[in-house]
Amino acid sequence: MSPRILNRHLCGATHTSIRSFIVCSFPRAVVRGSGKFGVIIKCRAVEVMQFTTVAEAVEAKRLLDVVSCAAGCRREHEVVQFNPNSSHPGSPS
Ligand SMILES: [Zn+2]
Ligand SMILES: [Zn+2]
Repeated sequence: MSPRILNRHLCGATHTSIRSFIVCSFPRAVVRGSGKFGVIIKCRAVEVMQFTTVAEAVEAKRLLDVVSCAAGCRREHEVVQFNPNSSHPGSPS
């Protein structure tokens, strides 16, 4: 599967780090990990887990779907790819 590309955020700036892009896109989210792939969890408070490879993100989502992310889990877990510089090719990632 190919993850949904996330390239929208709330400000007009160009984010030079993926983490700052995520924080801008999800201002109230807890963010963990590092990397340009991620799993967005929206069951309770929004949580973003970052991964270096899409395979890690897919596996993490699969596990979350099986064991649930927390009490009250609604299986609202999504694998995404963060692309903060999609409109600025050549920017550092
Ligand atoms: Zn922004
Ligand atoms: Zn959940």
